[in-house]
Amino acid sequence: MSKTQLNSFRQALETKRNELMAGGSDRAEILIESAAEEFDRLQQQLNREVAIRNLDRESKLLKEVRAALKRLDNETFGICLRCEEEIPEKRLKAVPWAAYCVSCQEAVDRQRAAGEPVDDDEAFELAAA
Ligand SMILES: [Zn+2]
Repeated sequence: MSKTQLNSFRQALETKRNELMAGGSDRAEILIESAAEEFDRLQQQLNREVAIRNLDRESKLLKEVRAALKRLDNETFGICLRCEEEIPEKRLKAVPWAAYCVSCQEAVDRQRAAGEPVDDDEAFELAAA
């Protein structure tokens, strides 16, 4: 991969990271005080649950984005964490923080869906630290 390509991926990742770190309106929803009206209260509770789920997803994504930036620093960006093959550029353009090639991602997703532990999670945590 050329330096220009790597730089454009870095830019995309940094933009995404900043976006995630800035947080959205979701965060505000969690802090909202309970309203006087019962209906509003229920509505807020629902909003809060959705917001928490979103935050959870965002913090996971942030971790993945950070890990990808780390891989850029370590010059291992674009290499599948599992099979060590190059991740196709088309995939990286769609998902710059992709850690796996498509077939490994599918295998990981299947394992997660089945509730099996995924070894790579630990490496991931370390890389994102
Ligand atoms: Zn792979």
